[in-house]
Amino acid sequence: MKISFAAEKTLGKLSKWLRILGFDALYDPEVNGGEFIDNVQAGRILLTRTRRVQEKHGSSSLIFIRANDPFDQLREVINALGLKFEDTRPFSRCIECNVSIEPIEKESVRNRVPDYVWDTQENFQQCGRCRKIFWPGSHTQRSMERIRRLFESGVGEKVDKNALE
Ligand SMILES: [Zn+2]
Repeated sequence: MKISFAAEKTLGKLSKWLRILGFDALYDPEVNGGEFIDNVQAGRILLTRTRRVQEKHGSSSLIFIRANDPFDQLREVINALGLKFEDTRPFSRCIECNVSIEPIEKESVRNRVPDYVWDTQENFQQCGRCRKIFWPGSHTQRSMERIRRLFESGVGEKVDKNALE
């Protein structure tokens, strides 16, 4: 199942969460919400908080977001699509650029990451667009825990709200 999203400009944090889960989530804070969504290619699921947009596009490929909290918004998307943890690929995408990150040779990052990271980590990945380097760190562990809880807890149950730092 290949799922991709286009979120309007008020849903920046939700977009980042979707990217953390590995989904292609288009988001442009520079463009007006309705205008942006008009330009979206077919096939993306539109995420909106604007009634006007909802009325215009119907409900077939659109999720109307009600919650204010980004993590609750993420829950709305997961529930609406019936997503399972197996549908996600956490930490496979650059949160800033929305492109997949790729493995990179350890040798080539020697002077580009802190010494303690180079000494303790074996697996590195890089964003092809911004060149940022990623490795499995403590932040990843914490976020992964939150993601797991998100999929384990039942509908309507509250989860940790301070997940996006
Ligand atoms: Zn990037």
